[in-house]
Amino acid sequence: RMAPTDAIVSVAGVSRVYGRKVAVDRADLTLSRGRILGLLGASGSGKSTLLRAISGLEPVDAGTIAIDGRIVSSPGRAVPPEARRVGMVFQDFALFPHLTVAGNVGFGLKGRTDRDAAVAALLDRVRLADRGRAFPHTLSGGEQQRVALARALARDPAVILLDEPFSSLDGSLRAEVRQELVQALRDSGASAIVVTHDAEDAMIMADDLALMDAGRVIQTGTPQDLYTRPTSI
Ligand code: ADP
Ligand code: MG
Repeated sequence: RMAPTDAIVSVAGVSRVYGRKVAVDRADLTLSRGRILGLLGASGSGKSTLLRAISGLEPVDAGTIAIDGRIVSSPGRAVPPEARRVGMVFQDFALFPHLTVAGNVGFGLKGRTDRDAAVAALLDRVRLADRGRAFPHTLSGGEQQRVALARALARDPAVILLDEPFSSLDGSLRAEVRQELVQALRDSGASAIVVTHDAEDAMIMADDLALMDAGRVIQTGTPQDLYTRPTSI
């Protein structure tokens, strides 16, 4: 279970307001080191806004966000995304189409003498060791996603953030792709937050869950806790 001393991401009382719309409402959650947290909720419940706040792409209007013990967000103060050791995997993967797979993965490692070896190790970790010379458009959706994951892992982030990682994938491949992504995340030992509106995705991928509704985190616990002792319909 979550031990506060082992928190890699701590969200405390975070709110984000757009005009009159309270997108995130005094949210609290903790991601423990080496674990996968599923952020689950219906469309419009505030998941992406909270994830963007953790990444540094979005400011907070109340509360604090700490990553690895350092406060990175508070009202009026935000450490920029590139300085907060987060790796993002976007819904559409956002790969560079004119770069090879190896070029994409090594993009953030320019100037490093061990770049080729680092890229090879990353591709191996996501089971794409033989695809380094390929261009993104020649890969399947699941493979492109693992390239995006390898690129996010390249700079040794404290946390990997994934927003709806399966929404653009074909239904019949979804379970397989999900399994491969979980395996790659586990093999990397990364701490991760996975946003999804799909309860099955959340149950299968996550060690811990945070359930959002109307901007609030209404329940946290293991998937089993939420399944057997839900506090809401
Ligand atoms: P989710 O990812 O759970 O679907 P979002 O975080 O995208 O939810 O959105 C939460 C609420 O905040 C929604 O009502 C959405 O319309 C609103 N919202 C999100 N971003 C903006 C924005 N930039 N400006 C105004 N309202 C926004
Ligand atoms: Mg969203």
